[in-house]
Amino acid sequence: MHASPTQVQHFIGGSFCPSESDAWIPRENPATGAPLRSIARGQSEDVARAAGACAKAQKAWGATSPAERSRILLQIADGIDAQLDALAMTECEDTGKPLSLARSLDIPRAAANFRFFATAILHETGESYRTEVPQDALNYVTRRPVGTVGCISPWNLPLYLFTWKIAPALAAGNAVIAKPSELAPTTASMLCEIAARAGLPAGVLNVVHGLGSEAGHAIVAHPQTKAISFTGGTTTGAAIAGVAAPMFKKLSLELGGKNPTIICADADLTVAMPEIVRSAFLNQGQICLCGSRILVHKTRLAEFMEQFTALVSALRVGDPLDAESDLGSLVSMEHLAKVTAMIARGVKDGAKIVTGGAPPARLASRVAKGAFLSPTVLLAPPQDSQCVQEEIFGPVVTVQSFDRHADAVRMANGTRYGLAATIWTRDLSRAHRMAGALEAGIVWVNCWMLRDLRTPFGGMKDSGVGREGGTEALRFFTEPTNVCIALGARL
Ligand code: NAD
Repeated sequence: MHASPTQVQHFIGGSFCPSESDAWIPRENPATGAPLRSIARGQSEDVARAAGACAKAQKAWGATSPAERSRILLQIADGIDAQLDALAMTECEDTGKPLSLARSLDIPRAAANFRFFATAILHETGESYRTEVPQDALNYVTRRPVGTVGCISPWNLPLYLFTWKIAPALAAGNAVIAKPSELAPTTASMLCEIAARAGLPAGVLNVVHGLGSEAGHAIVAHPQTKAISFTGGTTTGAAIAGVAAPMFKKLSLELGGKNPTIICADADLTVAMPEIVRSAFLNQGQICLCGSRILVHKTRLAEFMEQFTALVSALRVGDPLDAESDLGSLVSMEHLAKVTAMIARGVKDGAKIVTGGAPPARLASRVAKGAFLSPTVLLAPPQDSQCVQEEIFGPVVTVQSFDRHADAVRMANGTRYGLAATIWTRDLSRAHRMAGALEAGIVWVNCWMLRDLRTPFGGMKDSGVGREGGTEALRFFTEPTNVCIALGARL
């Protein structure tokens, strides 16, 4: 059952295995350029095998008591904690993110995801309605697992987002066919080993690796996957919806973002500034929630730019293994080229580079060939320019100023995305009014990425369909049946 250190294999029916075609995808460490591992390149026949394993395992798993499922999922959480160092190092190698970040954010959150859903299913409440007209009746809602579900996740927070789907799907009693990103797949395989050791029955969790257009498409198109939970880019989400919707599958789509950070006239910049920098550049700006569009009240712009530029220029970009590095490398040279092209286009459209815009001048020899970029601030791009309208998903922020707070809301809402927004103000009634007017699924006031796993998580507009988190996720991974019992008139 053991995972191989040099090959990332599928996990199907409780065993690691290569693709039937024996095809592989090579992957390099993006920070060093050195070859890392080969990833199994799954196809529809591998997904079909996984679907067979799910069909065998799901009924028994769905019939176990919540207490038993909870016990196993809590052991998986403990198993993740026990392997914190190995998982964090692997995540760092796969993505180029700082090891310190993987240790403090990604892996602890993966364990927290399992603990949260393992305990949530112990405290579920039901729904019932007494009907009096035209006749006395009792309605109550039962929920059953969907059956076999597909979970597809991106590379930016690999185990964090993978488990954010897998944990509720398993907790609700489903069997899962999952695919992590081909760019950062290894910790998903390590998780399979942890889950098997924790006692998760064979066939309940299956991982098929490979390209989105092949393995990912096959998971979405397989008639047995009755619900698809996807996190990734908006264009990919549209392609997935195109396949899944005509098959009447349940769909949860968590897509891209272009999140505004609004700095009101009365914002306390001393408190806000470190968080604004963090929200712009954490994980090299490669978090869907990053505040990549900063909107500053015109009376505070000069002061803001002075403080912000000083802090951003002082961020240390370098070897992800170095505890002193604030930013590591981007996920690949291809992604670096895309981000750099978007910066150049922003300049052409009228923005000014205040800091960054190029790789750091000095890099340690181990990482000299890596995909590094200094954190970049683009000042005053026009609202309709590409760097304001489209997700860059890198260490790049735009800064624009506004006159009235209503203008800030209009500018904030002026893209096709609607994932998250942050407001910095001392006036909580203004914050409340702005939050109600912002087209965003998540609004933070005087904080950023402060997460409570019970809250609904997701976006409006082209940022997605549906919500994850808390009861929303458990509802998504179950099918409700309303039972209506006529109560009659006699005792
Ligand atoms: P991506 O859309 O390229 O890939 C995401 C996953 O989908 C990968 O596993 C990929 O292999 C798979 N995939 C690709 N094409 C597919 C297809 N046709 N059918 C099925 N699966 C397919 O995204 P990415 O580059 O890995 O991640 C970055 C994007 O994810 C950004 O847009 C970011 O905003 C978004 N994201 C959103 C959230 C959120 O919660 N809203 C969180 C993290 C990342």
